[in-house]
Amino acid sequence: MNSAKPKSHGEAQAANVNAAIGHTIPALPSQRDTFEARLAQTWGDGLRRWQEGDCRVCGRNIGLEYIAVGVGDASTVDVLVTNCAQCEEVVSAHYHPGRDLTREDQSMHPRWDKDCPPAYQRAILADAAAPTHCDAAASERVRSWRPQQGRGLVLTGPSGIGKTHAIWRLARDLEDDGRNPIVISSIELFRVLARSAKELESAKWLLRCGVLVIDDLGKERLSPGACATLHELIDERVSYDRPTIITTRYNGPAFVARFAEPELGEDIRGRIAQACDHVHFKAREQREAA
Ligand SMILES: [Zn+2]
Repeated sequence: MNSAKPKSHGEAQAANVNAAIGHTIPALPSQRDTFEARLAQTWGDGLRRWQEGDCRVCGRNIGLEYIAVGVGDASTVDVLVTNCAQCEEVVSAHYHPGRDLTREDQSMHPRWDKDCPPAYQRAILADAAAPTHCDAAASERVRSWRPQQGRGLVLTGPSGIGKTHAIWRLARDLEDDGRNPIVISSIELFRVLARSAKELESAKWLLRCGVLVIDDLGKERLSPGACATLHELIDERVSYDRPTIITTRYNGPAFVARFAEPELGEDIRGRIAQACDHVHFKAREQREAA
């Protein structure tokens, strides 16, 4: 006795699609995506089979066209094109869900592309080994660092040993992660803060951006006004769990001495020490002595 249930329409379609092109689609039409629905439409009636030169999706003849596909370094293999241009979108949406074709050419880090100085872009994209004067170990620690809640990062050490390179590389990775980092030199930061001295509100993006990266803090000695605004900025970011990353060539008392108001300077140093992980970049002589 044959106990098999008669096939539903959807099951019959799925079986026919599989026989025609060797692709498995859900038996339930409601569970099919656009690509699968189109396969059912084309091959589901079982009246024909796919053959070379046909679009596997809509079934129309597209001729024998081959494209070279890169495999490994320099070699390519010729692969038969199996769907027409009109069907490309549904094929792509099926095999790469979440990828929006209209945005395919858009960078994962448009801000970085725009803001990062070309010399750093070239070095970072080439992923070249750090020059010997750079502290490569410290640089790797920065590279693998990620913000936890509002916790930031402070990079200390003499100038010219890779801190700025390290933060631009980190900024690119953070933007890839969707964190919206903004990198600003401390000089530019204080230009912005001076313009909005009375109202930090007008520079809200400094308060709200996902990660604020301040490069070379203390390069210029900070006026009392600048001290106060920076203090407010850091306070506000800390209280909203928004990480701040700072590079500075000054450490401890030398850092405090960069502020015209020593008390505020001490307070800011304390705030940063509390809210940030710390990576110290050593000069070559220091590393060799260690
Ligand atoms: Zn087609």
